[in-house]
Amino acid sequence: MTQSQSESPNILVITPHPDDAEGGAGATIAKWAARGSWIGLVVCTNGDKGTSDRDVRPEDLAMTREEEQLNAAKVLGIQHVSFLRLPDQNLQDNDEFREKLVREIRTHRPEIVFTIDTNRPYIIHRDHRMTGRVALDAVFPYARDHLAYPQHLAEGLEPHKVREVYLWGSDQPDTFIDATDTFDKKVEALFCHRSQMGDPSNEARIARWRQRYEEAGKKIGTPLAESFKRIELSR
Ligand SMILES: [Zn+2]
Repeated sequence: MTQSQSESPNILVITPHPDDAEGGAGATIAKWAARGSWIGLVVCTNGDKGTSDRDVRPEDLAMTREEEQLNAAKVLGIQHVSFLRLPDQNLQDNDEFREKLVREIRTHRPEIVFTIDTNRPYIIHRDHRMTGRVALDAVFPYARDHLAYPQHLAEGLEPHKVREVYLWGSDQPDTFIDATDTFDKKVEALFCHRSQMGDPSNEARIARWRQRYEEAGKKIGTPLAESFKRIELSR
């Protein structure tokens, strides 16, 4: 197993929608938060298209999902949540989005960034593809280079080098984190997203999640593990 260098690194989690980070990295976030890591979460879209209920107004759904996200963040031990409130299903690989992510990185100065892996064949939610792609671009080279978004310097935001990126949802995971003690926190946090997850007593669903974590646990000899693709950036 490859582990991060410090016991309690500063971490910034960049998620397309409310609930994606809990699904992909919830157990690891809870684990590092309990060890004393500062953890911030950037929620890129307002999530206002995430329903099959035709009676729900998008603006009400967006508000509900922010409340759910704040509850889930509390369960995991996330200390700061930034809502970018970009339009759901309409994230763009453009300057506006990239600048916002670079700003978050330069403000919070994480050693590690968590985001979603985009390297999956054919079908992947467009917002997931945009988030993962633009987050990696923001990490390198934009956050690092002082001439990228030079207005930040005038605001006192210095360039920042991220040390590692952990991608959840990877087809080719190479890093497995023991999730035995924090799997339950992950489940609790996921079910804070009531508008997405429904009934928290859905044992069949929890069993499916557990089975996936058991499979990953076999890689490192622990009952449960969460899996990532890990990228180390050169200094
Ligand atoms: Zn999503």
